[in-house]
Amino acid sequence: MKVNVAQVRRNEIGKAHFDLEEDFSSYDSELEGVSFTTPVRVHLQVINLGESLLVQGQIQAELKVICGRCMDDFIYPLDLTYEDEWVLSSLASEEQSETAFVFEKDEIEISERILEQIVLALPMRFICSPECQGLCPVCGVNRNHTSCECMIEQIDPRLAALAQWSKRD
Ligand SMILES: [Zn+2]
Ligand SMILES: [Zn+2]
Repeated sequence: MKVNVAQVRRNEIGKAHFDLEEDFSSYDSELEGVSFTTPVRVHLQVINLGESLLVQGQIQAELKVICGRCMDDFIYPLDLTYEDEWVLSSLASEEQSETAFVFEKDEIEISERILEQIVLALPMRFICSPECQGLCPVCGVNRNHTSCECMIEQIDPRLAALAQWSKRD
C-alpha cells in the first residue's frame, strides 16, 4: 500500500487526502486463525509539517475469526485510527531517524505499519456474542445451534453435604 507524497512533500499543497484499498489476504498466514475477507481500506491525510510528514487517518478492515467459546467463525469488523510521522531519509536528523519512519524519494510504503495496527487491535480471544453458549463440555455440540440432554452437575458443596446427611436416615 503506497502513498505518493511527491506533491505534498514539495509543499505545493500543505495537505493531501488519500483513499486507498488493498487486498491483505497475503498476510493471512501471519495471523493465526484470522483472515481478511475484504480489502483493507485506509483513509489518510498527509500533512507537511516542514521537517516531516504527518500521516494520519482511519483503517477499516473485516476479518474472519474463530469464536473462542463455540469455535464458529464470524466476521469481526475493525475501525481504527492511525498516525505516524515520516521523514525523508536525506533530510532525517539522527533523532528523527529514531522516532519517525524514514522514506526514500516520493513514496511511502505503509502496508507493514497498517498490518501492525490491525494486529495490535486484535483481542487475545474472540467471542462471537456476549450470549454465546459455547460447546457442551460433555458431548461437544455447539449449544448456540443445538440443545442436548447432557446434565451438567453443578452441585453446591453445602447441598452436597446435606444430601450426604439425609442419606443417613
Ligand atoms: Zn461463539
Ligand atoms: Zn451435550
